[in-house]
Amino acid sequence: MPGTVLLVEDERKLCDLVRCYLERAGFAVLSTGSGAEALSMAHSAAPDLIILDLGLPDISGHAVAREVREAGSTPILMLTARSSEQDRIAGLELGADDYVTKPFSPRELVLRVQAILRRQASVDGAEPAISSYGDGALVIDEARRTATAFGQQVTLTPTEWGILVALAGLPGRVYSRFELINRVRGYDFEGYERTIDSHVKNLRRKIEEDPANPRIVQTVLGAGYRLGLTRDA
Ligand code: CA
Repeated sequence: MPGTVLLVEDERKLCDLVRCYLERAGFAVLSTGSGAEALSMAHSAAPDLIILDLGLPDISGHAVAREVREAGSTPILMLTARSSEQDRIAGLELGADDYVTKPFSPRELVLRVQAILRRQASVDGAEPAISSYGDGALVIDEARRTATAFGQQVTLTPTEWGILVALAGLPGRVYSRFELINRVRGYDFEGYERTIDSHVKNLRRKIEEDPANPRIVQTVLGAGYRLGLTRDA
C-alpha cells in the first residue's frame, strides 16, 4: 500500500519526526512548511495523501484544503493545534478525511494514514460490481469505486465513499452516526459523531439534485441516516 505522502508542516522538528515515522512505514515523503509551495507540489507530484497543518505561515491550511479539494479527491489528513471543535468541523466541511489534534503520537498518525489509504485502495482491473438504486438515480460500482448520481459521475473522498457504500448496503435501514463511524473508519475517537454530519453535508452537495431536500442520503431525526432509494432489480 505505501505511496507518496505530502507533509505540510512548518514546525521543523515535528516535520522531521513525522517524516521519519512515515518513511519507516515505507512511504515516500515530500515536505514543505509553506502553503503556497504545498499547492504547487500537490499539483506537480500528485501525492496519494496530504497531511496538512492548519496553521501555516503564508496561507491558511483551510485555504490549501479548499484548493486541493477543488482540484480533485486526494485524501487530506489535517493537523490542528486548536482544540476548537468548530475549527475541525470547518476543515472537515472543506473535505478533509480525518484530523489529528496536536500533540499526537506519530505512530497513531501513521495508522490513520494507512487507514485512509486502505479505504481508497485502488481496485484497477477488478470486475465491475454494479448496484443500481431508485431506477438508476444512483449507481454504485464497488469494485471500480465509482458512483453516478442522477446521471453524473461523482468524485468522492474515501470517507464520503465509505458512508455511501455503508448506507447502500441495506437501503432503508437506519444507520446511527456511531455505526457509520465504525463502518468507515474501523475505529472511533472522541467528538467524532458530529463530524459524520460534515461528511454527509459534503456528500449531499455532490450527489443530491437538491441538497436541502435529499432523496438519496436522508436524515432520520434522532436516529441517524438512511439511503432513501430502493435497490433496482
Ligand atoms: Ca504550524
